[in-house]
Formats: sequence, structure tokens, C-alpha cells
Amino acid sequence: MNYRRLGTAGIQVSELSFGAWVTFGQQVGEPLAERLMQTAYDAGVNFFDNAESYASGNAETVMGNVLKRVGWRREAFLISTKFYWGLREGVNQKNTLNRKYLLNAINGSLQRLQLDYVDLVFCHRPDPYTPIEETVWAMHNLIEAGKALYWGTSEWSAYEIASALYSADKHHLHKPVTEQSHYNMFTRERVEKEYARLFREHHYGDVTWSPLASGLLSGKYNEGIPTDSRAAQPGYEWLRESGITPARVDRVKQLVPFAKELGCSMAQLALAWCLKNQNISSVILGASRVEQLQENLGAAQVVAKLTPEVMGRIDAVLGNKPQ
Ligand code: NDP
Repeated sequence: MNYRRLGTAGIQVSELSFGAWVTFGQQVGEPLAERLMQTAYDAGVNFFDNAESYASGNAETVMGNVLKRVGWRREAFLISTKFYWGLREGVNQKNTLNRKYLLNAINGSLQRLQLDYVDLVFCHRPDPYTPIEETVWAMHNLIEAGKALYWGTSEWSAYEIASALYSADKHHLHKPVTEQSHYNMFTRERVEKEYARLFREHHYGDVTWSPLASGLLSGKYNEGIPTDSRAAQPGYEWLRESGITPARVDRVKQLVPFAKELGCSMAQLALAWCLKNQNISSVILGASRVEQLQENLGAAQVVAKLTPEVMGRIDAVLGNKPQ
């Protein structure tokens, strides 16, 4: 496993990490969640991503139970959670980054995760209604209280991130150190173009999500929707309707020969393509089976095969390289 710096933070994260969305507390039971985490850990993964909202808090509960059972040394792994959507109905409790919500939310997450602190806490989405200084102060206070070590943003615009950096700088507060953004062969504009200056001038980190576009880039949807796949799950109609489009499936079919040429699977090709971007600190993997995770962890071996010539040919197929 290779490790990369998390932006300006002193810590390093495994370039492949593992997340709990859709799977923990929902699609897979606790014994399988444990096998998945142990497989990742044994391969050198040191960063596990979670969020308050995943499976309405149950993903944190499952991860906490697994951590308790496996008994890894706390120094050896990093856990993140994310806040914004909230678990409860009611004013000030959802779709917000207000101080009251954030300072309460961390206590719930720590309880479910059975941890004294999380390593990273993300603002899961920007909140246009809470002043940026209030959110920055709240994140600073979480860190000063010892409940989190670092904080970051997720799906914030470059402008919003720059505002948070400026606000923290002005008041000598803990700055956010990393984004968590959507990045894969189909979704690249923001990471490759909008954030270019953030990476260059602020050395902002980025841990990226849905590297396989919810599985589409593994080629599993090339011949339709398998009944045991994410897209067949209740509640994921959006994936069938707007994620798995005929045009995207056609692109994946055109990429399969590249994987064959490089001697890897389509999933490994798509993941290695993400890893090729040196502004990315870690690519967060998702998996509903141990075999998928084992396959995906092999992606690091493919990166060296992605020469500029091969990347150019892939770009010609994708047709979406930001100018
Ligand atoms: P992917 O795009 O990689 O999708 C993972 C899913 O694809 C798996 O659960 C599995 O689904 C399928 N899959 C994975 N590997 C293979 C394989 N080799 N062959 C066939 N199918 C495969 O990642 P996720 O969308 O799960 O995102 C990863 C993590 O990113 C999340 O767990 C979460 O931690 C984070 N995230 C953050 C967000 C944010 O807003 N900050 C938003 C979304 C995710 P199945 O078997 O069910 O078809």
C-alpha cells in the first residue's frame, strides 16, 4: 500500500481507503462488514470513511462494533464522519452546519462509533444559510475539545473552501485540510479544473468518492441490471434512471478493451485512473463483497501501466477532459 499526504496535514492516508455508504447497516450484515474492514486493514488501508447520515446512524454503529471486536491499535487507523443532513426532524437539526447542530452531532457519532475521537470530521455539504465563520469556529471547537483531529469539506465549491480557509486564517483557527469530492472517469470537472488553484496554492487535500460511479465503471451493468447490485436495491431508482445511462454504458464497453490490454479488470482500470491524479490523497472504495474489495485493492499495481499515451487514448473515449 502506498500512503499519501492528506493535504497540509501531518498525517498520511492509504491511497486506497474504504467507506461505509449503502453497505454498512443496510446492504451487508455486521459479520461481512467486519470481513471487509479486516481485508482492507490487512492490505494496508488505514482510513475508513463514514457519516452520521449513512443508514441513519446505523453505519456508524456497525463500524463501532467492528472496531471494538477487531481491537486494532487506535494509533494505526483513521476514522471519519460527516455532518450536514442530521438524524432528526425539526428546525436547526437538518440540512445545516449551525454550531448547535454540529456540537451535538459529534457526541452522537462518537457514541455510535464507540470512540473518544474521530480523526476527520467533514462538513458533508455547504450550508448557504449559516455564516461561514460560525461553521469554522464550530469545527475549531470540536478539534480543541479533542473530539476530532482534523476537519474537511465535502462537495463545497472552490469559493466556499477558500472562504473557510480565509476565515480560519483571519481568526487563527484550525483550517480545513481536505475535500471529499465526487471523482471518477465520468465526473471530473470540479476536481481537475475548479480545484486546480486550491491544490496548487493551498495544497488542499482530496479524498474522493464513488470512484466506480456506484459500480457502473466495473462493467457490471454492461448487459443490464444484476438483481444483486446496488442499482437493484430499493431506494436507488435514481441510479437506474440517471446514473446508468445508455451513453455511459456505451463508454464503459469501449473501455473494456483497455483493461484487457493492460491485463487488469475494468474496475481496476477505473480506480487506477483516479489514483493517477496526484492531487488525490485517497480514493475511497466501496464494496458489498470481499472479492470485490480484493479486486479493487489490486488497482495500485495498474497505475504504472497508465502511460501518457494510454491516458490520452482513454481521454479520447471519455471525451470529457476539462479544458
Ligand atoms: P463505488 O463507486 O466504487 O461503488 C461501490 C459499489 O460498486 C459497491 O458497493 C458494489 O456495489 C460495486 N462494486 C465495487 N467494486 C466492484 C467490483 N470490483 N465489481 C463489481 N461491482 C463492484 O463507491 P461508493 O459509491 O460506494 O463510494 C465509496 C465511498 O465514498 C462510500 O462508502 C462513502 O464512504 C464515500 N462517499 C461519500 C460521499 C460524499 O458525499 N462525501 C457520497 C458517496 C460516497 P454492488 O455490489 O451492490 O453492486
